[in-house]
Amino acid sequence: MKKPIKNLGKKLKPCPFCGRKMVFHKEIRINKYGKQVTYQYYLHEDYDIYHDESCILDEIDMPFTIGAGDANPDTGYIGEYAEDWNRREG
Ligand SMILES: [Zn+2]
Repeated sequence: MKKPIKNLGKKLKPCPFCGRKMVFHKEIRINKYGKQVTYQYYLHEDYDIYHDESCILDEIDMPFTIGAGDANPDTGYIGEYAEDWNRREG
Protein backbone atom coordinates (compact mmCIF):
# COMPACT_ATOMS: atom_id res chain seq x y z
CA MET A 1 0.00 0.00 0.00
CA LYS A 2 1.16 3.52 -0.80
CA LYS A 3 2.14 5.98 1.85
CA PRO A 4 -0.85 7.85 3.16
CA ILE A 5 -1.13 11.53 2.36
CA LYS A 6 -2.00 13.03 5.70
CA ASN A 7 -3.23 16.46 4.74
CA LEU A 8 -6.63 15.63 3.30
CA GLY A 9 -7.51 13.20 6.06
CA LYS A 10 -6.95 15.94 8.60
CA LYS A 11 -9.97 17.72 7.20
CA LEU A 12 -12.26 14.81 8.03
CA LYS A 13 -14.01 14.35 11.32
CA PRO A 14 -12.78 11.39 13.33
CA CYS A 15 -14.77 8.17 13.25
CA PRO A 16 -17.91 8.44 15.43
CA PHE A 17 -17.58 4.80 16.51
CA CYS A 18 -13.94 4.40 17.48
CA GLY A 19 -12.68 7.97 17.50
CA ARG A 20 -9.74 7.32 15.20
CA LYS A 21 -8.80 9.76 12.50
CA MET A 22 -9.29 9.07 8.83
CA VAL A 23 -6.28 9.07 6.51
CA PHE A 24 -6.21 9.77 2.79
CA HIS A 25 -4.71 7.15 0.49
CA LYS A 26 -3.88 7.34 -3.17
CA GLU A 27 -2.93 4.27 -5.16
CA ILE A 28 -2.19 3.82 -8.81
CA ARG A 29 -2.83 0.36 -10.16
CA ILE A 30 -2.79 -1.15 -13.62
CA ASN A 31 -6.13 -2.69 -14.49
CA LYS A 32 -6.67 -5.79 -16.59
CA TYR A 33 -6.77 -3.69 -19.74
CA GLY A 34 -3.30 -2.29 -19.03
CA LYS A 35 -4.65 1.12 -18.11
CA GLN A 36 -3.51 3.13 -15.14
CA VAL A 37 -6.29 3.63 -12.66
CA THR A 38 -6.03 5.91 -9.66
CA TYR A 39 -7.76 4.86 -6.49
CA GLN A 40 -8.35 7.44 -3.80
CA TYR A 41 -10.01 6.71 -0.52
CA TYR A 42 -9.87 7.25 3.22
CA LEU A 43 -9.06 4.57 5.73
CA HIS A 44 -8.92 4.57 9.50
CA GLU A 45 -5.60 5.76 10.85
CA ASP A 46 -3.29 2.84 11.61
CA TYR A 47 -5.71 0.46 9.95
CA ASP A 48 -4.53 -3.07 10.57
CA ILE A 49 -6.68 -6.02 9.62
CA TYR A 50 -4.95 -8.20 12.22
CA HIS A 51 -5.32 -5.72 15.02
CA ASP A 52 -7.80 -6.64 17.71
CA GLU A 53 -9.23 -3.19 18.14
CA SER A 54 -11.00 -2.98 14.86
CA CYS A 55 -13.87 -0.59 14.40
CA ILE A 56 -17.48 -1.70 14.03
CA LEU A 57 -17.37 -0.13 10.58
CA ASP A 58 -14.54 -2.44 9.60
CA GLU A 59 -16.66 -5.40 10.62
CA ILE A 60 -19.44 -4.27 8.31
CA ASP A 61 -17.15 -3.48 5.42
CA MET A 62 -13.63 -4.98 5.34
CA PRO A 63 -11.93 -2.58 5.38
CA PHE A 64 -14.17 0.40 5.78
CA THR A 65 -13.29 3.08 3.26
CA ILE A 66 -14.71 6.41 2.26
CA GLY A 67 -14.44 6.80 -1.48
CA ALA A 68 -12.51 9.86 -2.61
CA GLY A 69 -12.32 9.49 -6.36
CA ASP A 70 -13.15 13.14 -6.89
CA ALA A 71 -10.85 14.46 -4.16
CA ASN A 72 -7.98 16.70 -5.16
CA PRO A 73 -4.94 16.77 -2.87
CA ASP A 74 -3.53 19.74 -4.77
CA THR A 75 -6.49 22.00 -4.14
CA GLY A 76 -7.41 20.42 -0.81
CA TYR A 77 -10.84 19.28 -1.97
CA ILE A 78 -11.77 16.27 0.14
CA GLY A 79 -14.37 14.76 -2.18
CA GLU A 80 -18.10 14.40 -2.16
CA TYR A 81 -18.34 11.41 0.19
CA ALA A 82 -15.93 12.98 2.65
CA GLU A 83 -18.07 16.11 2.69
CA ASP A 84 -21.09 13.95 3.50
CA TRP A 85 -19.06 12.29 6.25
CA ASN A 86 -18.25 15.69 7.74
CA ARG A 87 -21.83 16.89 7.44
CA ARG A 88 -23.11 14.49 10.07
CA GLU A 89 -23.98 15.77 13.53
CA GLY A 90 -21.53 15.65 16.40
ZN1 LIG B 1 -13.95 3.71 13.42
